[in-house]
Formats: sequence, structure tokens, C-alpha cells
Amino acid sequence: MIALKDRHPGEGRDRGETRRDFLSRDPGLRRDDDIWQVLEGVPDPEIPVVSVVDLGIVRAVTREQVTITPTYTGCPATQVIERDIRDALDAAGYRDVAVETVLSPPWTTDWITETGKAKLEDYGIAPPSTALTATCPQCGSIDTEEVSRFGSTPCKAQWRCRDCLEPFDRFKCH
Ligand SMILES: [Zn+2]
Repeated sequence: MIALKDRHPGEGRDRGETRRDFLSRDPGLRRDDDIWQVLEGVPDPEIPVVSVVDLGIVRAVTREQVTITPTYTGCPATQVIERDIRDALDAAGYRDVAVETVLSPPWTTDWITETGKAKLEDYGIAPPSTALTATCPQCGSIDTEEVSRFGSTPCKAQWRCRDCLEPFDRFKCH
């Protein structure tokens, strides 16, 4: 260790920062991006067309930790999501990255990305909305009715379009 009095003023600090940029910060950011990419490849167990990133389940990514908030706690898929993310990180070589589940604040449909909403609509699931009526993903009609509080999974309600008579699932809002 070099004593401070032996340094020329300013020299050590400037060099130190430059070296940190090269050795730590840049590869760190790349690592964060790589982890996001791995997570974008993890499909939701219930609706495989959307990823856990599309659904807003992934809240934060650092070099050390991935923070997730599962969708509805009543969902049987909740435990599956955490395990799928763990498996994907392990497979990509990120065994040292922890997966932390945070339940507060609770997941809300507002966290679904625009990409995620578009994918849900393409898949025939009405994107979540606080509107009282759902828009039919088949024909766009708003003349729809809720048939059952529970659709194909506990997280979705079963709806039906009065115009084209097609049934469809709708995400329940929190
Ligand atoms: Zn319709």
C-alpha cells in the first residue's frame, strides 16, 4: 500500500477511476443486460407466449440478485415461476445470482409491459383493464359479459362476447 504523501496530488484518484470503469463497471452493465436476456427467455408457466419480464414479474436485476414479485399469490404457477427463473439462471452460468421473492408491494396488472399486453391480445386474452366491460379479443366488440369469475386458471375470469359469441379469458385486476 502506497502512503498518500508519496503520491502526486490527483494522480492516483484519476487512474483509479479509469481502471474501475474498465474492470468493473462496463462488464457489470453487460452482465445485467445478459441476465435480463436470460429472464426474457423464461416463459410464464400459464401463458407461454409472454415472458416473466413481459408480465412485470421481474422487478430488479443486479449482478448479485434478481428480485421478483409473483403474480396472484393464489396462483399455482407462483412456485413454478421462481423455480423456472432459478433453472434458467443456472443454465446460463449465473449460479451466483440469488433469486429474491418480494411480495410487497403486490404484483399488479399495471406492471405488464406494452409488449406483454400486445402479446396477450394476440394470444386471445383480453389485456387487463379497470374498465367494467372487457373488449373481445376476437372481434373488438365491447358487448361482452362475465360468465364465470374463474377462467382456465384462478387468475383469469371467463368472459363471452355477445356479438361473435366467442368465450375468452380476461386477467383479473388487482
Ligand atoms: Zn367478439
